[in-house]
Amino acid sequence: MAMVASSGTNDSIQNMVIIGSGPAGYTAAIYAARANLSPLLITGFQRGGMPGGQLMTTTQVENFPGFPDGILGPDLMDRMKAQAERWGTRLVEADADRLDLQQRPFLVEADGDVFRTHSLILALGARANRLGIATEARFWAKGISACAICDGATPQFRGQPLAVVGGGDSACEEAAYLTRYSSEVHLVVRRHELRASRAMVDRVLANPGITVHWNRQLVACHGEAWLESITLQHSQDPEQREKLSVQGVFYAIGHTPNTELLKGQLGLDDGGYVELPCPGAPNTTIEGVYAAGDVADRRWRQAITAGGSGCQAALAAERWLTESNLARLMARSQPEPAAAVLPQQQEAATAASFDPAAAWQKGSYSLRRLYHESDKPLLVVYTSPGCGPCHVLKPQLRRVIQELDGQVMGVEIDIEVEQEIAQQAGVRGTPTTQLFWRKALVQQWQGVRQRSEFHRSIANLLDHGT
Ligand code: NDP
Repeated sequence: MAMVASSGTNDSIQNMVIIGSGPAGYTAAIYAARANLSPLLITGFQRGGMPGGQLMTTTQVENFPGFPDGILGPDLMDRMKAQAERWGTRLVEADADRLDLQQRPFLVEADGDVFRTHSLILALGARANRLGIATEARFWAKGISACAICDGATPQFRGQPLAVVGGGDSACEEAAYLTRYSSEVHLVVRRHELRASRAMVDRVLANPGITVHWNRQLVACHGEAWLESITLQHSQDPEQREKLSVQGVFYAIGHTPNTELLKGQLGLDDGGYVELPCPGAPNTTIEGVYAAGDVADRRWRQAITAGGSGCQAALAAERWLTESNLARLMARSQPEPAAAVLPQQQEAATAASFDPAAAWQKGSYSLRRLYHESDKPLLVVYTSPGCGPCHVLKPQLRRVIQELDGQVMGVEIDIEVEQEIAQQAGVRGTPTTQLFWRKALVQQWQGVRQRSEFHRSIANLLDHGT
C-alpha cells in the first residue's frame, strides 16, 4: 500500500493534494495518478464521516454502472481505493486539520504533518443531517437510512410500510420513489406545508401510496435487531403521540457540506457549499483549487455524479498545472503497474487450520484457543459483512498488531455467522472491539477509533498490567 509516513513539514512540494476519499476523491486520484502526477490523498478519518464517504454506510448499491447485480457500498469503495493506489496515489489516513490557501504553494496540515501543494482538490463530501433522537445510532443501517435511492430496494424494505422524514424536494422525491417497493409510505412533515417545489407537492399529494402526517416530528424508534415501529409527536402538542409500524425510516432533512475547514479560506455559498463561480466547472474562487462531489453539489449527490465531478476536477487541475509550468511528473519504472490489491476475505480457522502463532485470525475456534492458551493481550473485533465502519477499522487493527510485532494477537468474529459468541460477548453493534488479557476483559471500544488509542491501551497493559 502506498502510504505516506512522515512527520513535520515535508520539504517537497506536491503537484496535487486531494482531500476526501469518497467517489469524488478517488476518481480524481485515479485520473491524476494515471497522468503521472503522483497525487497525495488525505482520506479523512472521523471528521465529517469516515474514509470512503457516505457509501460506507450504504448496503447494496444497484445504480452504479458496471455492477449489474449491485455491489456493497464498502466493496465499491475498496475497489476505487485499490484502483487509485494501483496507479500511484499516496494515501494519508488522517483528517485534514488545517488549510492555508492564502499562500502558494497551498498548505495542508493533517495529523501533525504539513504538506505543501501547487493544486488542491476538495472532495470533502457532505453528511446527511440526522435528527439526533436517542435510538438513532442503534437503528442506523438497521432500518434508518439517509438515502432512499441507495437503500430503498433492499429486501428488508420490500412490501413493508416505510416512512420518510422531511418536507423538501428530496423527501417528496424519495417518498414517491419508495412507493415502488413498499406497501405504504408515510411522509412525516414537521410543519403544515411542504417546502418542496409545486410539481413535487402535487405529485406527492396525488399519490395514493403516500400518507402525509402534517405537523409531526419523529421522536423515537423501536424494534429488536431491526426497526419495527416509530413514534410521532405533534409539533405543537407534545401530548399528541402516535405509533406507526414501519420497517424503514428515510431521513431527507437536508445535508450539511463538510466545509468547516474551508471557512474564511475560499468562497462558500449560503448553504455552506463550496462556491463554483462558473456553473458546471470545478474551479473554485481560488485558482488552483478545485471542488468535486457533494461538497459543492446540493442537488444530485449520487456516487456516479461525484465520480464524474472528481474526473473534471483532476483534468482541470492537470491542465492548470501544465499551463502554469508547475507539474513535476513521476517516472514509472514500467508502463503497466502491478495488479490492484483488494482486501482478502479470510476463512474462519478450524481445529485443522488453527495456527497458534498467526497474529491475526478469524472465528470462534481461534478466539477460544487464544483466550485460554495465549499469555498475550488479545484484540477481538466483532464485525458484520456489509458494515462500512468495520471495513475501515479492520486494517487499522491489523496494522496495530503488525506494529506491535508479536506482542498482541487479533481475532475477528463475524457476528452474522457466530451469533452465539456475539451474544455471549454482549455485542450490540459492529464494529465492537474488545481487549482481553489473562481471561479478563480490559477495555471495549465501539465504532472506528484511531490506531493510537489501541496502542495506548495495549502499552498500558504491557507496561503496568492495567
Ligand atoms: P431542503 O433543505 O430543501 O429540505 C429539508 C426539509 O427537511 C425541509 O422540509 C425541512 O423542514 C425538513 N427538516 C429539516 N430539519 C428537520 C428536522 N430536524 N425535523 C424534521 N424535518 C426537518 O433539503 P432537500 O434535500 O430536500 O433539498 C436540497 C436542495 O436540492 C433543494 O434546493 C431542492 O430543491 C433540491 N432538490 C431538487 C430535486 C428535484 O428538483 N428533483 C430533488 C431533490 C432536491 P422545513 O420545511 O420545516 O424547514
